[in-house]
Amino acid sequence: MGTSLNDSLDEDIRLFLIDEKQLHTYDDLTKVNPVTPSTVLTCLQARYDAKVFYTHAGCTLVALNPFQPIPYLYSLDVMKEYHCTSQPQESKPHIFIVAEEAYRNVKGQLEPVNQSLVVSGESGAGKTWTSRCLMKYYATVAASSSVVKKQNTVERIERRVLDSNPLMEAFGNACTLRNNNSSRFGKYIQLQLDSRQLLVGASVQTYLLEKTRVVFQPTGERNFHIFYQMMSGATTEQRKEWKMPNGQCFAWLPNSNTHLEEDCFEETVGAMGHLGINTERQREMFRILAGILHLGNIEFCSSSDDSQPCDLEEKSKEYLQNAAEFLGVVALELESCFRVRTLKAGKQSVLKPCSLSDCLVRRDCLAKVIYAGLFEWLVTYINNSMCAESSTWSNFIGVLDVYGFECFQLNNLEQLCINYANEKLQQHFVSHYLKAQQEEYISEGLEWSFVKYQDNRGCLDLIEGSPMSVFSLLNEESRLNRTSDARLFRVRLENELSKNRSISWDRFSQEPHFTVAHYAGKVNYQIEGMAEKNKDPVPSELINMLHKSKNSLLHQVFSEDEEQPTKGLSKVTVVSKFKNSLENLMKILHSTTPHYTRCIKPNQDCKPLTFKREEVILQLEACGIVETIHISAAGFPVRIPFESFIQRYRMIKPTLTIDSGNNNILDFVETIITDVLKQEDVLHQIRGDKQNSLVHCGKSKVFLTQSMLDLLEDRRKKIL
Ligand code: ADP
Ligand code: MG
Repeated sequence: MGTSLNDSLDEDIRLFLIDEKQLHTYDDLTKVNPVTPSTVLTCLQARYDAKVFYTHAGCTLVALNPFQPIPYLYSLDVMKEYHCTSQPQESKPHIFIVAEEAYRNVKGQLEPVNQSLVVSGESGAGKTWTSRCLMKYYATVAASSSVVKKQNTVERIERRVLDSNPLMEAFGNACTLRNNNSSRFGKYIQLQLDSRQLLVGASVQTYLLEKTRVVFQPTGERNFHIFYQMMSGATTEQRKEWKMPNGQCFAWLPNSNTHLEEDCFEETVGAMGHLGINTERQREMFRILAGILHLGNIEFCSSSDDSQPCDLEEKSKEYLQNAAEFLGVVALELESCFRVRTLKAGKQSVLKPCSLSDCLVRRDCLAKVIYAGLFEWLVTYINNSMCAESSTWSNFIGVLDVYGFECFQLNNLEQLCINYANEKLQQHFVSHYLKAQQEEYISEGLEWSFVKYQDNRGCLDLIEGSPMSVFSLLNEESRLNRTSDARLFRVRLENELSKNRSISWDRFSQEPHFTVAHYAGKVNYQIEGMAEKNKDPVPSELINMLHKSKNSLLHQVFSEDEEQPTKGLSKVTVVSKFKNSLENLMKILHSTTPHYTRCIKPNQDCKPLTFKREEVILQLEACGIVETIHISAAGFPVRIPFESFIQRYRMIKPTLTIDSGNNNILDFVETIITDVLKQEDVLHQIRGDKQNSLVHCGKSKVFLTQSMLDLLEDRRKKIL
């Protein structure tokens, strides 16, 4: 058992006097003491007010969003400073420390180790901004300036890697209530380094694009940027080609009058060029996008005769013609795809008219499947364009930018998937950091009792476990050849999963739902529509039509995809696909050394220099920072092997003799520590409340708090 020296220290020595005026100088939240949510907040706020935006929290970096440009913080000179310093950890906290540490770690002490930079936080907190900043850092300090000749263009690889950002953001980001440039997909980008540690390529993996946004934009929000860029940035000629005269209104382009910085058509087109997308391909892309916009203006009306299909609204006929033209399909076939369903009964086909709402569902479905297909094609293209030959790179640094925890008034399958991803990441964080700490304590014979941390395995079991979980039941429900009944499904969930303590329900509520206790808080999920979303059916008529498209890009998108079903039902469900891709990601993360950055949004209105305590604390709790700080502070972040401790500090009491034998070492440590504490006039510096001790001795190491180390070091310096 470890010996606590705490008992032998004078009571008054353990008093801590927090110096409010100095709070902004604390670079690490684990050094603030006593560590309470309130002191941590006060510290972050003091730093924010002093325009200091980065703070360590043990092994995590906390990044506060300044919501205003801070050019001096990210200049080339600053990059160089962090890159060239011999001790990056001792420089001021900065995202470049994380970047540089990962960069140096790649070399590894014995062998190279791949690195992952995990950036998390809620929407608008600064994840994408931070990821871009990391990529710029590597594109600068690790520039190989190697020239790639791919896709018929010659371009420096750094340029390509950086250009992938605006391009993917144009297609995958949108203005939402929470962030004008909100990423509607997750991404993991691997920066490939050669044996000289130079950037020679990159590859990107994306997750779960919110394709519904193409056909539905919540009030006050917008569609994907690319559509607005086309509307505001294209030449008169182009607009004419796309049949978008000035003043043209499209149903799927709400809030067209808000002009954003992100609406930069030129930059997007420039990036396409740099990545090797030639003008003919670009033209096809824009025609497809224009086709989607025209689809959105097609409306139907009920036919007077019930046995007959719905009719097109008179004014929709032109839009249908245009859409068909741009998508390279036959207008009549497009129309009948919407209005008539083909049912297969044995060898015979039966035609059945669609209801009005069915027609709209089919129209929306077509737009979504095309947009998602185009996005996927773009990502594959970008990968081909910037990926290095496997023989030329040996290691990678991965940057993960995924959507943070979400909890809205109404939550459905999308939020379930997003929150599930966050649970997986939290589990990775917990297992990597917290468990590693705990294991070291245990192996050193120390008791691990100071902190209780939340293991989220129960919640993950609930969502993805086998044989019975929300996902498995949902898949079962989605495979049924009938429309799911939300009420019955709720009862089934309850019957099968009620043993799990992470799930609960209010049986009397009007809308069937279930509540999951996530590590970051409770979320109510609406059951209505969930199984259907999971099925995500695409009528076979639509796919068959796209197979024949005369737009050669569209034709390519839909002919090469072997997974694409020809029958709408026999498809892999959304959650199975997502679970698979996340598992692959977790495998990669587990094989790398992770570095965590938690972005914090200091206020909901994206206002510069406004720090709202109540909003920040919720985020600190949701990402587990409070727990991390507790563990790092309540624990002993500094570990020194006995031998080194003796060598370094015996000069404090040179008369002390040490023989071999553990007891003797414990006595030695105790004497030194007591001596330092008694002799130094350092009461105000001691950070340790009454429950905490400053030192523990394990089997082979001395465990110290940071403050105790500071004292020892001060004393040592004085003697030297
Ligand atoms: P997220 O990806 O987490 O949703 P973003 O990275 O898009 O959020 O950030 C939202 C906005 O906040 C950005 O568009 C930018 O205006 C601002 N921002 C974020 N981080 C910084 C920073 N370090 N310096 C200046 N502005 C920032
Ligand atoms: Mg983002």
